Amino acid sequence: MNQPILTLQKFYYQMNRSRDIRLRITQTWLCAQEIDSADISELTRILLQLEAIPRSDKTYKLYLDETRMIDVDLTYEIDELKKDLFFLAHSMEEFEQYLMTFCPTFQSEVTELVHTLQGISFHTFITDRDGTVNNYCGRYASSIQSIYNAVFLCQYAKTNVNHAVILTSAPLKDIGLMDISVSPPGYYIYAASKGREYVDTTNAEHHFPIHPDQAHKIEELNQRLNILLKRPEYEAYTLIGSGLQFKFGQTTVARQDISESIDPRESLVFKQMIENLVREIDPQGQYFRLEDTGKDIEIILTIQDDTQKKGVKDFDKGDAIHFLDQDIPLYLSQGPALVCGDTASDLPMMVATQSLTNETWGVLVTTDADLISRAKKQCNNMIFVSSPDILVTALYQLSNLSSESLKKYKAG
Ligand SMILES: [Mg+2]
Repeated sequence: MNQPILTLQKFYYQMNRSRDIRLRITQTWLCAQEIDSADISELTRILLQLEAIPRSDKTYKLYLDETRMIDVDLTYEIDELKKDLFFLAHSMEEFEQYLMTFCPTFQSEVTELVHTLQGISFHTFITDRDGTVNNYCGRYASSIQSIYNAVFLCQYAKTNVNHAVILTSAPLKDIGLMDISVSPPGYYIYAASKGREYVDTTNAEHHFPIHPDQAHKIEELNQRLNILLKRPEYEAYTLIGSGLQFKFGQTTVARQDISESIDPRESLVFKQMIENLVREIDPQGQYFRLEDTGKDIEIILTIQDDTQKKGVKDFDKGDAIHFLDQDIPLYLSQGPALVCGDTASDLPMMVATQSLTNETWGVLVTTDADLISRAKKQCNNMIFVSSPDILVTALYQLSNLSSESLKKYKAG
């Protein structure tokens, strides 16, 4: 008998379980072994539990604590589970037809992208995650990667490129990129916190160098925030929107979400409390810069590095490209690069790659006319598609074309 999910905590618990199951299935799929039917039954059970959450219309209702309820949109979690179950039960052709039901231009956009990129032998593949190769989800902690998505991306990384990098602004761990990915180790380099920390293909962790004093200060801040947000009256802030994220060199604390789950006056008092805490740790304001988006409070460590010579500027994904190129190293100058993103914050990544190899191709997942025109001005060889599923399906098809031509070459 299925226990209904009533609280946000239980919801996250089940989503984390789906991550472990999906990782296991992806590993089995990539080794062409038989998938355990118990794992598929368990994923089906989680889907049924999600669909059984009380709702009005499309908005699901979960308890935040003993008295408060939160409205949540579970489109991502439910759709991706449905797609995974379909993927595991049908042929690839049928699955692509199923993806078409989510986007009318799916087929023509996939065909065009494959046609454009076919024949280019990319040395490097660098991509943003959310909204680019992964469908967008409002809550980071439950944006668990799908099995089909991991299979498509891993096949592309294995067959088509020498280096594959996921580059995101979210943190690496607790809760970060590594907690929601279901690709087995070895396929991708995971670069998080805008590239200031990464895990390489041997699972070793690396960091952008910062001064010990600064490292000590951010550690003190994170410890104090952790203690504060464990108190029952503040726990809700870890469960809404961005939650509490410890990025390398930057900490994010949610104070509100899109459904305004927190009373605006309470949210303001909470914001002032965080500001006071930061002032206590950094009375001269020499270590941190605060940014309030209304939803999140960003506490950013000011890092003394080359970017300071150009004036005051935060570390961006363009700086990440230069750091990763030397630190991994990627040897970007040695061959064509494919760089994918979906927002303006991804453009510096494309521009920086272009400065290292003139054979740079960019795919932007967007329908925003302003962003398209900005991208065209800043980058050469830009292609635009309207959804992450189009991009990952095209990459998968390109990996099949590559392995076919490899087979022909070997046979010939
Ligand atoms: Mg994105």
